[in-house]
Amino acid sequence: MHYYQIAVDAPLPTVLTYKSENELKRGQSVIVPLGKRKANGVVINSTPDAGPHQLKDIISIDETQPVLSDKFVSWLEWLSDYYVHPIGQVTSLAFAPLSANVKKRKSSKAPVVKTYQQSQPMTLTEEQAACFTAISKSSEFSVHLLHGVTGSGKTEIYLQLLADVLEKNQTGLVLVPEISLTPQLVERFAARFGEKIAVIHSHLTEREKTDQWWSAVKGEKKILIGARSALFCPINNLGLIIVDEEHEPSYKQDEKLKYNARDSAIVLAKQMNCPILLGSATPSLESWAHAISGKYQLHQMKHRVSHRSLPHVDVIDMREKQNSNPDLPFWLSTPLYNAIVETLEKKQQVALFLNRRGIAQTTMCRACGFTHRCPNCEITLTLHGERHLVCHYCEYTTRKEDYCPQCKDGELAALGMGTEQLEKDMQKLFEAAVVARADRDEITSRESLEELIKRMEDDEINILVGTQMIAKGLDFKNLTLVGLVMADVGFNLPDFRSTERSFQLLTQVSGRSGRHFDDGGKVIIQTYNTEYPALEFSKTADFEGFAKGELELRKELLYPPYGRLASIRIIGSNLKSVEETAELCAERAKKLKSRNEQKPSAYSEIQVLGPAPSPLFKIRNQYRYHLLLKAPPTGVLSSFCRQLLGDLKWASTGTKVQVDIDPIHLL
Ligand code: ADP
Ligand code: ZN
Repeated sequence: MHYYQIAVDAPLPTVLTYKSENELKRGQSVIVPLGKRKANGVVINSTPDAGPHQLKDIISIDETQPVLSDKFVSWLEWLSDYYVHPIGQVTSLAFAPLSANVKKRKSSKAPVVKTYQQSQPMTLTEEQAACFTAISKSSEFSVHLLHGVTGSGKTEIYLQLLADVLEKNQTGLVLVPEISLTPQLVERFAARFGEKIAVIHSHLTEREKTDQWWSAVKGEKKILIGARSALFCPINNLGLIIVDEEHEPSYKQDEKLKYNARDSAIVLAKQMNCPILLGSATPSLESWAHAISGKYQLHQMKHRVSHRSLPHVDVIDMREKQNSNPDLPFWLSTPLYNAIVETLEKKQQVALFLNRRGIAQTTMCRACGFTHRCPNCEITLTLHGERHLVCHYCEYTTRKEDYCPQCKDGELAALGMGTEQLEKDMQKLFEAAVVARADRDEITSRESLEELIKRMEDDEINILVGTQMIAKGLDFKNLTLVGLVMADVGFNLPDFRSTERSFQLLTQVSGRSGRHFDDGGKVIIQTYNTEYPALEFSKTADFEGFAKGELELRKELLYPPYGRLASIRIIGSNLKSVEETAELCAERAKKLKSRNEQKPSAYSEIQVLGPAPSPLFKIRNQYRYHLLLKAPPTGVLSSFCRQLLGDLKWASTGTKVQVDIDPIHLL
């Protein structure tokens, strides 16, 4: 008889032991009895000691799943351990989307990857060639950060590196943010590699996804391009992983297994001993810090290809009377209006962005731009109800007065102005122009986004109004004016990363302008806060200057990359139980901190902030509280959280307690 530890697809904290007459391999899929039902599982280890319990038999080997490699299983174990998530629910993510038993239905749908006219490798620019040569030297695990301004030709480097990978008969994995996985992008890869490409994104049917998945697993397709979940496709023989737009917050999954695909990809590359390339025009400060410390290899491209300039950026101070005109909507300055008129006359396209995401319920003084900040956390206070300004990190509260405490003159107004208004106003002002809007209300499906992109490409749209949905990655040949309508909204989100996000957005948005014109096009940023540091730096695309200042702030406050965070969320439909559990959790955390004997110094340095109501306090009738744990950048935070949650029997019934390691969304 053999004994095996099985990761069973169920919310269990550990593996379960089963017996079997057969000899099984680590990574093999099995069906096991669990209570009265059957469950899927993955063999983790064989174990010599059966223990005192009566063990159940493994029902069967699941031949419909691939056998996972030893290293891939190790990576899944790491995920479970690091993100404090049940091992069986992590391993189940590596299963095929549909089991192979499900019958194929005949379909006459368009192929997932179309055939395009073949594209030839371009002669690399000097900057590109230098980066390419340096990166292609690595054949073993190493992390490369490719920092290249928008339009510097990062994608061409990816393509040529992947060509090398194919040459060596290896496989490649390319992760891109879901929103960037447009036909435009797929086309660039498919035109170069044709039949060798598999693509996985959330808008494929389960059947399509499964086919793409298997073709990559079996090695029929050599390059897999996908959004973050493609990471779980157990590809063999990996020669390179590329994470494009590595700074994108969407690499973090917010529910269930709360993993960051970029970070997890680095660990996977380490397991597989292959190089990994992170690319961005605005790297995350975490990656940047590693690059300047030498932990990652840094490669930079400071120019757009073909000597095209970066766009010219003008910042318009909305507080200055000379910039406004009573005949225009309040949000539109005279300079931006004039630029729009000029651009339309030249038969070129305009894009207007309004960075309004989530609950930007902050207040700002219309006269001087003042916003309330928390004295403890250096973040913006959020307005609750009419008068309560609350810090969502430490629960500091203050009262909102009618007039600004700084200039005693201006009125404190809640910011709130949407893209829909913007579209209406534009249509009224420019009756003859075709105005289109792209935001989550208007663009609800992938098809509608693709259609919009096509209309932009075909020059059927003159003015595009949108949220950050269209800020990223897109490349429109005739777009030469980009306006940021109210840049301030994003400056004041209650998140320590809000400055970084603003810088990224300003840079990405600007990067859409004039990509095919030698003069680089024009960007106009309207703001009430001209002195905002991210603005000054993004004007000249000075990422390094920005990063330097921002990293100093992070260091002072022990925020990532100098410290690590974990967010503990307490959720439930009964407010009192949620509050009680949150309090109890904080008490447990404080006790655990002082009690731990094995790692006294490490645990004692963990700071426990809160509990505080989450900014999104009530969602779908569920109340939410959270605690924030701040720790030095050592490995103890996950084990601390695991102990903190324990068996969860201490929590009030009906409340959920969740851990988010390295949280990105603190709302
Ligand atoms: P990034 O990803 O850095 O924003 P892209 O890879 O999209 O930049 O490149 C910008 C544009 O320059 C694209 O239209 C691309 O086809 C073109 N391009 C890239 N590399 C070269 C090159 N070596 N020679 C000529 N054109 C290039
Ligand atoms: Zn003021």
